[in-house]
Amino acid sequence: MSKVVHITFDYELFFGSSSGSIQKCMLEPTEELMRIAEKNKARFVFFVDAGFIWQLRQHAHVTQCREDLQLISEQIIRLHKAGHEIALHVHPHWEDSYYEKGSWKINVSRYKLANFNEDEIRGIVSKYHKALTDITGQQCKSYRAGGWCVQPFKKIKQALETNNIFTDSSVYKNGFQDYSAQSYDFRKAPDKAEWNFEDDECDENINGKFREVAITPDRLSPLFYINLYLKMKLNPQNFKPVGDGSWLKNKKRIYGHFYSFTDHFACCDGFFASRLRQILLKNESRGSRRMLVLGHPKSMAKCSFYYLDNFLEYAIKKGYKISTLAGSE
Ligand SMILES: [Zn+2]
Repeated sequence: MSKVVHITFDYELFFGSSSGSIQKCMLEPTEELMRIAEKNKARFVFFVDAGFIWQLRQHAHVTQCREDLQLISEQIIRLHKAGHEIALHVHPHWEDSYYEKGSWKINVSRYKLANFNEDEIRGIVSKYHKALTDITGQQCKSYRAGGWCVQPFKKIKQALETNNIFTDSSVYKNGFQDYSAQSYDFRKAPDKAEWNFEDDECDENINGKFREVAITPDRLSPLFYINLYLKMKLNPQNFKPVGDGSWLKNKKRIYGHFYSFTDHFACCDGFFASRLRQILLKNESRGSRRMLVLGHPKSMAKCSFYYLDNFLEYAIKKGYKISTLAGSE
């Protein structure tokens, strides 16, 4: 197998108290990413929050939503034509969210697909997928669960099969979250870059029809977070995210970063992007020839564009191909 790096982005708004604008969270940072990709002859993967597209269509009678849909559709078509993969990202809380008086009222009481029954899940995945394929004219081949909440996989399996999607990229080894809205447990996941599975994404099954291409894990020390905090405080211009919304926060988890190690993943958001080179070398030393990076246009900072560009140059020099998931089956 040749050496490959997948650079993947969750293309979406924020889901905290303020969703932010499509200009700052999606359109502008994605333009910059397209420039970086073109310069390095790289192909990225964009996991498009298709529930948002579906909701924009539902709100087509509202001028702002109609204009936003138009701009986003145009950008997705350009991404598609430039050879980037348009993949399916599902945040089912769009079922309960709506637009009113100039902003999105986000309700995350049902943040995971597992909060719905199997028939509802099939309906949600199919209608979101269709909203996206109506734009590109092409079916998605890869899936990432909103907020990594892919469990229990057995419950969403049929919905993906119905939509002919057999590649998942939601898992990062040792990832663990356990609070009301968002929960997942990848502590038992195989310590590999890729594996097949059937009913449980963490249980390798060589005959399984699904393929997991895992997000490359990374372990962060409290020192990293202290450094990140100081950098954002002292030089916000360079280190603060470009997006203008607010995160869905789990305060307990945030404080935890400062006193214990955090199981994280290869990430090109903000200052996290500074670690990519190091992660690649560690990944290589463990014998892996595949690395998968996750980021969000909304969370890119001025510094992360610079780090990403540098990392791509470095990886390409080392013989890596920067490619899509669909192109690596
Ligand atoms: Zn997401």
